[in-house]
Amino acid sequence: MDCIFCKIVEGTIPSAKVYEDEKVVAFKDINPEAPVHIIIIPKEHIESVREIDENNALIVSHIILTAKKIAKDLGISESGFRIVNNCGKDGGQTVPHLHFHLLGGRDMQWPPG
Ligand code: 5GP
Ligand code: ZN
Repeated sequence: MDCIFCKIVEGTIPSAKVYEDEKVVAFKDINPEAPVHIIIIPKEHIESVREIDENNALIVSHIILTAKKIAKDLGISESGFRIVNNCGKDGGQTVPHLHFHLLGGRDMQWPPG
């Protein structure tokens, strides 16, 4: 399958991985929007939140717990952080493999543009 994030999972595209287990991989965003900008993805190819249902929803809580752990490991837990999911065209999703952004290390603005 021609999916950039599946290739990162396979290792055929290099990435700066910060965490990996049997279900997920986390790596530095190639175009960071904050001092800490990590992408967390399931190893399984799931296109977006639209493809989450009762059968695979546990991966989402696993990703959130992974984000929490990485935030602590990278020293942004106390000051706070943001977890973002973009879904589909209007949501701003550019890579069609489910992913959550973990952003931190600076004061975030709200609402986003
Ligand atoms: P989206 O806009 O789909 O929510 O986020 C996709 C993110 O993936 C973007 O922030 C983009 O910079 C990042 N990205 C796209 N291609 C690559 C890549 O090949 N390597 C890494 N590390 N990040 C990527
Ligand atoms: Zn994929």
